[in-house]
Amino acid sequence: MPTRLRIITFDELPNWMKDNDLVITGYRAPTPSFWICAKTLFSLHNETLSIWSHLLASIYFFSLYASDLKYRHCRTLVNDDLFLKLYYLTATIAFICSAIYHLFCCYSHYVRDILVKVDYIGITIFITGSFMTWLYYAFHGETSQNCVYLYAICFGGLLVGILTQLDHFNARESRGHRAGIYVIFGLSLTIPAILLFQKSCKSRQTTKIISSVIYTTIIYMTGGFIYTTRLTERLWPGKVDIIGHSHQIFHVIVVIASIVHEKMIVFIATTNEEMVDTKKWLL
Ligand SMILES: [Zn+2]
Repeated sequence: MPTRLRIITFDELPNWMKDNDLVITGYRAPTPSFWICAKTLFSLHNETLSIWSHLLASIYFFSLYASDLKYRHCRTLVNDDLFLKLYYLTATIAFICSAIYHLFCCYSHYVRDILVKVDYIGITIFITGSFMTWLYYAFHGETSQNCVYLYAICFGGLLVGILTQLDHFNARESRGHRAGIYVIFGLSLTIPAILLFQKSCKSRQTTKIISSVIYTTIIYMTGGFIYTTRLTERLWPGKVDIIGHSHQIFHVIVVIASIVHEKMIVFIATTNEEMVDTKKWLL
């Protein structure tokens, strides 16, 4: 068993670790020791930025989840923080699952296969949670419509969650399929957004709500494009292996998008004059 971290090239990797042949160097050698894997958190390799970006994001969202929202956001949100808490919790779960996957993915083939599926489940839970939060505040007060959308998103999330557990989804050549499924799931939010726009396109609140979904969609799509095309390592082969390859850029963009989404949801929730405590119908 190795006693310390060894950095190797793509060609030296066993097949089960080979994923992106455009990133040539900076790989951790297979390390069947949880302790040595954990210690790689503090060394420089091509997963360092991926791990830290999502580890710090999980700490940020957990601190929001644990904080007193009554104190943070006065006014209307006081009685209506259930879905904001849901957003913080699902973000925490997704980012910690991702950080754990990237930290321990060099342990063994078996552990990698399990952790990558945990990572996908985390992503699915987060997308579902963020959509539910957006729908809840966007359609606040319209109980029956809100209820239908929330159940539909839960069903969609469950479906995507099942798909991500298939071995095909995890295969190296399925990079496009992986991004495609999440994009389709993401685009499902355009249906309620269009309906909301048709219904009250002149309202300032609706403009804010629609803008929030457009901004975050553009940021996520940019991340998805860079991830799928492996843009940076294709443009600068060998120069962005440690810092700047597409998966790392994708991670950073996801963190930015999740914070933008959070700020916008808080803004919508705290400026909605019609917001009343309607949690009861959910319980
Ligand atoms: Zn990742």
